[in-house]
Amino acid sequence: MKKRIAIIGSTGSIGTQALEVIEKLNDRFEVTALSAGNNIKLLEEQTEKFHPKYISIENTKAAQDLKNKFKNITVFYGDEGLNQIAELNETDIVLVAVSGKTGLIPTIKAIQKKKTIALANKETLVMAGDIIMKLAKENSVNILPVDSEHSAIFQCLNNAKSVKHLIITASGGPFFRSSKEEIENADLSETLAHPRWKMGKKITVDSATLMNKGLEVIEAHHLFNIKYDDIKVVIHPQSYMHSAVEYKDGSIIAQIGIPSMHIPIQYALTYPERTEGIETESFDFIKAWQLEFFEPDFEKFPSLKLAIEAGKKGGTATVCLNAANEEAVMAYLDKKIKFTDIYKITKLVYDSYKPINNPTIEEILSEDEKIRTETKNIINNKDIV
Ligand code: NDP
Ligand code: MG
Repeated sequence: MKKRIAIIGSTGSIGTQALEVIEKLNDRFEVTALSAGNNIKLLEEQTEKFHPKYISIENTKAAQDLKNKFKNITVFYGDEGLNQIAELNETDIVLVAVSGKTGLIPTIKAIQKKKTIALANKETLVMAGDIIMKLAKENSVNILPVDSEHSAIFQCLNNAKSVKHLIITASGGPFFRSSKEEIENADLSETLAHPRWKMGKKITVDSATLMNKGLEVIEAHHLFNIKYDDIKVVIHPQSYMHSAVEYKDGSIIAQIGIPSMHIPIQYALTYPERTEGIETESFDFIKAWQLEFFEPDFEKFPSLKLAIEAGKKGGTATVCLNAANEEAVMAYLDKKIKFTDIYKITKLVYDSYKPINNPTIEEILSEDEKIRTETKNIINNKDIV
């Protein structure tokens, strides 16, 4: 039987790569539902190619246009449309590939409907990791990581009780070798020129500040139930070692391969099986002869430190971190602030915030809203230290 898949965010970097994997393995998968934000043209192309029964788009007018064009397809719209896609009876796997906070509620809805979750959207775990992991356990739902580092750890983890450290690798981003002054003056095109990965804009900016790695430490803490002090970050510019697990007996198991998101996406979709897929080229150890590893520079990349601090604090501290950072990143992409202001603003908001312990989802959403408003006010008033 084919696995029936719904993709939340099918027009993005992860969504389109997932569809490439699915196209290659079309004897195993059926696309039941697709959803987009604003990219109606691409959603139309995907619909014509993959014949889903359900699609969703953010805007009502676009939804009407799609209804007129695809008479036999059910078209949803807005945030509620994503929830409807997440809850469909006719799916087995929901791939959550939207960016930012939009992933949270659809993920909850899909878990409640006992869908297997292929989770790319790390912000979901950053905002509500405790709730999500508990809910997944209660509903006996597998959360299969798509993020390459977490997929790597997931593949290396065979004895959770004996783990000494998780080792999360980071490419270091475009500014790894830049001076503080160069980073201060970096323009948007330099920030978006990631040396290894072609990704959506939000995660690309987060990769440049290393906030992405901080969010990934929080993601790993929740996914694998490992203490923050037992998670190490190592800079590895070649991005061949995607992460590793160090065991108490001194053995380290690492997952290595070419840097391609097709591989972790495919593993999440075919799990527990491994099949031939889109990447057919073997990793060339001789060509990749030099693997370098460095300690992260917390002074040049303070966002990483702030994220780990927020993770340790727990409660809604990570909601604050995520919301303030996301708003600051959006402002940076809109050219309203400088690159280094992203951290300054996030820190300013974070430092004045009092977290709630053991929050409910309603509290998480209302805190998120409050923090976003406050962050936007700071940005608009240019109230930056
Ligand atoms: P993109 O920005 O490329 O794609 C985001 C997707 O979400 C698009 O399909 C977009 O639609 C859709 N979307 C955004 N906002 C809304 C909304 N309000 N309603 C409905 N749909 C919406 O992001 P990425 O694919 O790069 O990243 C997705 C997630 O995966 C992120 O959380 C990221 O951290 C994570 N991730 C990404 C990796 C990568 O290599 N790209 C690696 C590891 C994790 P549209 O384009 O139509 O507007
Ligand atoms: Mg990653």
